[in-house]
Amino acid sequence: MMKDSFDRTIDYVRIAVTDRCNLRCFYCMPAEGIPYEPKAHLLSYEEITRLLRVLGGLGFQKVRFTGGEPFLRKDFMQLLENTAGLEDYKSIHITSNGTLLQKHIPKLKELGITKINLSIDSLDKERFHKITRRDDFEKVMQTFHMLVDNGFQIKLNAVIMKGINTQDIIPLAELAKDYPVDVRFIEEMPFNGGYKENIEMYSARDIYSDLKAHYSNLDKLPSKHGDTASLLSVPGYKGYIGVIAAFSRTFCNTCNRLRISSKGEIKSCLYDDGVFNIRDFMRSGVSDEELAEKFQEIVRLKPKDGFEAEKMRKAPKEAMQSMSSIGG
Ligand code: SAM
Repeated sequence: MMKDSFDRTIDYVRIAVTDRCNLRCFYCMPAEGIPYEPKAHLLSYEEITRLLRVLGGLGFQKVRFTGGEPFLRKDFMQLLENTAGLEDYKSIHITSNGTLLQKHIPKLKELGITKINLSIDSLDKERFHKITRRDDFEKVMQTFHMLVDNGFQIKLNAVIMKGINTQDIIPLAELAKDYPVDVRFIEEMPFNGGYKENIEMYSARDIYSDLKAHYSNLDKLPSKHGDTASLLSVPGYKGYIGVIAAFSRTFCNTCNRLRISSKGEIKSCLYDDGVFNIRDFMRSGVSDEELAEKFQEIVRLKPKDGFEAEKMRKAPKEAMQSMSSIGG
């Protein structure tokens, strides 16, 4: 097990397999998209599998593949198959927008990869279109139902924004009544490629107040290792409701993760601007032992929280990357 200097066990890695996305969520990137990395700049599947193997040897047990949209990258299923073959990973997760994964459901089941976070910010078709700038609402809902019917463990993620989709909080939460899914509301963060400066925050506290006003019998659950969401339950509901204070950063004391962008930039905190490029290090011909030592050093230097990480940023505020290139 790897511990950082704040005695947190770090055993979870999130890897962005691509910076490309087929949606254009306005809180994530501008309408014209972001400048994408050429393929040669991306970590190859061999490189990803290697670093997962090395991290597995250091006690990592959980991996999440994200992006961009992971199912956009060619042969993504091959990477999943490689990862499913690594013994150390008890828990393989994917974050997806749900537009491209339907045809992969049988193979995902076969590989035992059944933990999917699905992003859906509105249950209203027009609002969904306004937020994502694409017309994929029905496809995403269809994916949701297919995943439920096939017994996947689903978490629904919705970014809540003032004046945009606060009216979706209760309808989305109500999905937890009929389906065994966790519905999680996320504060907007400034990771939009720098094009959108002002965020009028609808905070975790605001979201919680809305939930409390609607559900008189809301219970708070104790948090588990690495939880970013404060979990709530409504008696009789099949799933839970979660609130993620992603901008307020109230959960850093339970942090258990590293992030690796599609071009190999390691973030030891979402709010730092990249602490090391592991792709270049691997491509310089280092051994697995050297790679392991580097990861140990990075974990040791992990900042206390997202505020400290933000203070240490060298890049200017306007250079806040899009979540699509960071790996959301
Ligand atoms: N394409 C996949 C998807 O849509 O879930 C994975 C990548 S996406 C960047 C991962 C998550 O980051 C999504 O749930 C998205 O809503 C969230 N996200 C993107 N930009 C964000 C921002 N500025 N603030 C908060 N969450 C954001």
